[in-house]
Amino acid sequence: MRYDYWSGPDEQDRRERYAEEFTPELQANGDDVQRRIAAVEVAYLAAGGTPLPEGYASGWRPRAVNDATANAGRASTHITAQAGDRRDTPDGEFAWWCMRNRWALEQHGLWMEHPAGTTLRAWRTAKVQGRVPTPWCHLQSVPPGSHNRVYFPDTRAPTEWGAFLAAGGQEGMGYDAWGALQAIGASGAVGVGNASTPRRGARGGSPTRPATPEQGEGEET
Ligand SMILES: [Zn+2]
Repeated sequence: MRYDYWSGPDEQDRRERYAEEFTPELQANGDDVQRRIAAVEVAYLAAGGTPLPEGYASGWRPRAVNDATANAGRASTHITAQAGDRRDTPDGEFAWWCMRNRWALEQHGLWMEHPAGTTLRAWRTAKVQGRVPTPWCHLQSVPPGSHNRVYFPDTRAPTEWGAFLAAGGQEGMGYDAWGALQAIGASGAVGVGNASTPRRGARGGSPTRPATPEQGEGEET
């Protein structure tokens, strides 16, 4: 399964389905943010990064779709087509690379959600569901309120990041190393608990059926 910036999990083009909400400005915004993200991806690949799975886990979200997305912000930049959730490798390599190479984000005018709000949550969900993780990297072309290049998307994220570091987690670590850390730590030390509550739209997955924010298996802003 793969769907692009303008489609949802049903692979229907939202520009048609939500035509009354779609405007040329949204098209321009979406084209712009995709160009910026593609430019950062080129820098990542040029630096030897592992090729990414194709496409976006979530792109433009019409308001009704956003409202139905787990943990999506009310004023999400997905609504204005100024954000994209680029699919990442299971180890979250693209997100970690962007975090270490903020110059690339600055150069291309992008801001990213801290991996605590994307990668780590995707890992927890995958662990609970016993499947291969399908993280994403949220990048947007407008600054968040804090103007931080890498920002925490909600108040829970800094706490989760603190717990991750306290348990021995490190920036750039892979899913298996993170899993091993969990096995060593006390049960729930890295915050496995919260991700286990089934959310609307959640479904069991398999390695061939990637989960995305919009299927309710991730949490997005
Ligand atoms: Zn997003």
